Amino acid sequence: MYIVLKESATYEEILKLKKFIKETGHGALEILDGSIKKIGIMGRKSGLTKESLKEFGIVENVLQIAKPFKFVSREFKNEDTVIEIKGRKIGSTDLVLMAGPCSIENREMIIEIARIVKENGGEYLRGGAFKPRTSPYDFQGLGEEGLKYMREACDIYDLLMVTEVMDTRDIEIIEKYTDIFQVGARNMQNFSLLKELGKTKKPVLLKRGLSATIRDFLMAAEYIVAFGNKEVILCERGIRTFEIATRNTVDINGIALLKEKTHLPIIIDASHGTGKRSLVEPVTLGCVLAGADGAMVEVHKNPSCALSDGDQTLTFEEFIILCKKLKKTLEFKESLKCL
Ligand code: PEP
Ligand code: MN
Repeated sequence: MYIVLKESATYEEILKLKKFIKETGHGALEILDGSIKKIGIMGRKSGLTKESLKEFGIVENVLQIAKPFKFVSREFKNEDTVIEIKGRKIGSTDLVLMAGPCSIENREMIIEIARIVKENGGEYLRGGAFKPRTSPYDFQGLGEEGLKYMREACDIYDLLMVTEVMDTRDIEIIEKYTDIFQVGARNMQNFSLLKELGKTKKPVLLKRGLSATIRDFLMAAEYIVAFGNKEVILCERGIRTFEIATRNTVDINGIALLKEKTHLPIIIDASHGTGKRSLVEPVTLGCVLAGADGAMVEVHKNPSCALSDGDQTLTFEEFIILCKKLKKTLEFKESLKCL
């Protein structure tokens, strides 16, 4: 259920209405859809009727959302969500390029990669300190030590930090360092994690689960939003199909479809999506044209020595070429809008 507020509603009146909603045991999520103010109501307890809401005098309409995913749907908010972090925007026309190693391996390497990312127009440094590895015997990440190195690299080059959180117990420590929390594909339906991230104040990059449908994906995003955090970035990173020639299959249909269904920004991670270095560039560019608002890529000075995901990781040279082509692709995409 959501409320469309009258244009004349004042800040104090909205505050009073939200207080009432919360007192009935519901959550209240205020958003601006273009110039229209709305309040999403979370929860389904009794004690909140259309009539009781209308008594407040600032309620234009009370509407139900037919879809299972509600507050992430275009039905609730038609205007694209633009997430602003330290002056940079995700979901607008700004170039969103999140690049870095799969894992933070040591201080020097992350600082060097940060420099390459910055020099080539990237504004976001990615890298894992807590790694979800298939084998317990593989490198598990440097933990807090890695977070420190990455924060230092981001501060030196004025980059925004994106790093994975795997466990609710690590949220507090990761929050001290990161600008954006990443939820990995394997945790897309870790509902305890999603709920806790819903209570944080930092944006969440939610990766699509290995076998998640578009509906599952949007429902996972809905969890984060329903628990209070409106700043969710979706990330298509390929799904498991019968095809084994590539690591995963990037669902380009899904990107275009998500753009129709949700107002949230979407980025493409063709590194995990393809698992193959040579495919990262064409698939990234294709997905940006299909609707993705930006890209995430893995990059390393010497991918063959990387401690994880070397096969899908770009060299510096390949990364530099991708950056140039990505900028051109975004310009081209913008030029299509006036046709
Ligand atoms: C990663 O970004 O390094 C990662 C593990 O991604 P995913 O969860 O998509 O596999
Ligand atoms: Mn990886």
